[in-house]
Amino acid sequence: MAFAPRVFSGMQPTGNLHLGNYLGAMVQWVEMQKTHECIFCVVDMHAITLWQDPADLVGQTRSVTAAYLAAGIDPGQSILFNQSQVAEHAELAWVFNCVARLGWLNRMTQFKEKAGKDRENASVGLYAYPVLMAADILAYRATHVPVGDDQKQHLELARDIAQKFNNDFAESIRKVGIADGIFFPQPEPVIMGPATRVMSLRDGTKKMSKSDPSDLSRINMTDDADTIAKKIQKAKTDPEALPSETAGLAGRPEADNLVGIYAALAGTTKAGVLKEHGGAQFSTFKKALAEVAVSRVGPVNAEMQRLLGDPAEIDRILRDGAERARVIARPIMDQVKDVVGFLR
Ligand code: ATP
Ligand code: MG
Repeated sequence: MAFAPRVFSGMQPTGNLHLGNYLGAMVQWVEMQKTHECIFCVVDMHAITLWQDPADLVGQTRSVTAAYLAAGIDPGQSILFNQSQVAEHAELAWVFNCVARLGWLNRMTQFKEKAGKDRENASVGLYAYPVLMAADILAYRATHVPVGDDQKQHLELARDIAQKFNNDFAESIRKVGIADGIFFPQPEPVIMGPATRVMSLRDGTKKMSKSDPSDLSRINMTDDADTIAKKIQKAKTDPEALPSETAGLAGRPEADNLVGIYAALAGTTKAGVLKEHGGAQFSTFKKALAEVAVSRVGPVNAEMQRLLGDPAEIDRILRDGAERARVIARPIMDQVKDVVGFLR
């Protein structure tokens, strides 16, 4: 089967979007929207793999949607919706739970990181998370998935699931009229944002995350200028001055991270930043970094706040997107049922 290029990606409403989400994924989404048919999702079903207060989740879903819109996602052109409104994601995930192997999931580093030491007490959903992610993508037969570097392993799993489904059901797939027996495409990760792995401001070896308990670890797209300046000022660094060449960043994860963030925000390279700021003390460099960060985050934040003033409009956009998403996913899921042997 020939698959038309189609983009799918999502973010969890586990909190406010941060610079990592923006530079690792969102900027790339806006770019791909110009050239591809795109489906963007607020993945609320993924969010509840870790406890979310129901009173907060609805607001967080609206807030992440507002961030998508403020960053430049056009809901007229692209499909924008929240995952739980399209039941096909959960339906296909169940079928994929029966295709994926325990051994595959046991290797997933995100589960190990998020479950931590108390693994016995983690939700089954957290463990099965990558299977639902495969369903999110393949329910639309999406071919390209723009994500940050941390999602590479989950994308590989999605490819394995697609492949095994195609193999296991090859005969049945032909019977439903797909002559080459290839039901699902192999979705490709697109890891090409200006900064594909932004690290925590408190620990240069850990990625910046919405779910990190320390708010000082990240710059949220909703932070005001003072908060951004304060967080950057408090960011962990080493006592050395900045090097003048990128080689001098080796073994200095915090310095490397701050220079990388600056480069991504200013649309230049780490080498370019060091050319200008090499030899500077962090106290000086951090002031310059805060300025570029405020100049990029400020306008997105202001637009988000404006959009959040009309929650009914956000809900309308999500409902409309969900309807359009269902139009694509429903016939694919019906075909999956025929392939698997579910009577309908
Ligand atoms: P959580 O801590 O709840 O998992 P998160 O910050 O990891 O939140 P997600 O919603 O899981 O955010 O991911 C949304 C997108 O942002 C994905 O494409 C992911 O790869 C990307 N992303 C997340 N964190 C970073 C980061 N630190 N640097 C670059 N990209 C990131
Ligand atoms: Mg994540």
